[in-house]
Amino acid sequence: MENIVNLCKRRGFIWQGSEIYGGMSGTWDYGPLGTALKRNIMQAWWQYWVEDREDMYGIDAAIIMNPRTWVASGHTATFSDPLVECKFCHNRFRADKLGNFGANVTTEELVTAKVKCPVCGKIDWSEVKQFNMMFETKVGATGNDVAYLRPETAQGIFTNYRNVVDTMYPDLPFGLCQQGKAFRNEISPRDFVFRSREFEQMEIEYFINPKTWEADFEKLLNDCHEFLEQIIGLPKDLIHELDVTEEDRAHYSRRTIDIEFDYPIGREELMGIAYRTDFDLSNIQRESGKNMEYTIKGTTEKFIPHVIEPSFGVERLLMAVLTSAYTEDEIAGEKRTLLKLPEHLAPFRSCVSPLLKNKPELVAKAQEVYQTLRQKYHNVTWDDSGNIGKRYRKQDEIGTPKCIVIDFDTIEDNTVTIRDRDTTKQIRTPISDL
Ligand SMILES: [Zn+2]
Repeated sequence: MENIVNLCKRRGFIWQGSEIYGGMSGTWDYGPLGTALKRNIMQAWWQYWVEDREDMYGIDAAIIMNPRTWVASGHTATFSDPLVECKFCHNRFRADKLGNFGANVTTEELVTAKVKCPVCGKIDWSEVKQFNMMFETKVGATGNDVAYLRPETAQGIFTNYRNVVDTMYPDLPFGLCQQGKAFRNEISPRDFVFRSREFEQMEIEYFINPKTWEADFEKLLNDCHEFLEQIIGLPKDLIHELDVTEEDRAHYSRRTIDIEFDYPIGREELMGIAYRTDFDLSNIQRESGKNMEYTIKGTTEKFIPHVIEPSFGVERLLMAVLTSAYTEDEIAGEKRTLLKLPEHLAPFRSCVSPLLKNKPELVAKAQEVYQTLRQKYHNVTWDDSGNIGKRYRKQDEIGTPKCIVIDFDTIEDNTVTIRDRDTTKQIRTPISDL
């Protein structure tokens, strides 16, 4: 994990947020390569779930929503973590994470279990308080109107369900998809980008007839596997399903599967898929007074649709991609690091360079090839720094699948060398075939 974090920093994938001012806990900034990788992952998701399907629609709701949203969804009342303070050193902790405790852990339990402060070692705990994780902000000039940064993208979908039904007339079942930022005031952000205070979600609310929920759930679960394994290219043997027990499920959920991934930090949740019944739409109907029923076309049969929710975290998916791509091997007795990223996710599809930087005719020819490929493929990079071996090592480390080199033969016969990242094998190809 440390090697990957270092590579992310050194090569411009991910930096600590506001690093220049000493950082901002629980936030991360994406550099040029990380941004490119993240956008490619999000685009692959959008294409698979929205553009390539006839039963899905994309939406993009505001981050700041009417606070009644969070009353209806239950976040105002219950979206909290147990917080405890060490009365000696005044550090604050998530009480349940200080040992093997439940979410309703009490001070007495901590004392009985002889839990020591991880910082100062004393046992001097405050009362455990429930700490709401929503970020509060004030709206408008009066400063009295409290609003929240959304803690999930899902409610932006549910609150627009009626608008979509009334404008797009979708047949049931249908899904609404959204990508975007969400915010949670985590007491202790940790494990690199896994648990941060600002993060990006990709969520689907799939509206169904409750009669068919089991079949619909199976179908979506299969699609999730197809997306992760075929589209994103994650190794199947690192992906695991955890059928969440009734006791651990949200009270309204009849079935939840966490899809976990073997990260270097251990097996952690990558995404989840939950059958949420009509919990959300019924809450909205009660809070808003608006009718959330769907009428089956050509009939008088109507009901509030039930929902299955596949929910992805962009950062967790990105880390799964990075950690499964990260490879160390040895080429001709020399150690190298490479990212075996799939071509459609790599920040750069290829790198063009002249064999020698100080030969104007090579540079001119290489520039010509570079500009042509850029027009065709867009994410093509140029590298004429150092010697050719150093360029290969750099491109291997940032996951560029192909390096195209222009040499003296190119001037003669219009062929170039293409060097493959994974095998390091080189082939000779006419420029017209690139
Ligand atoms: Zn302490």
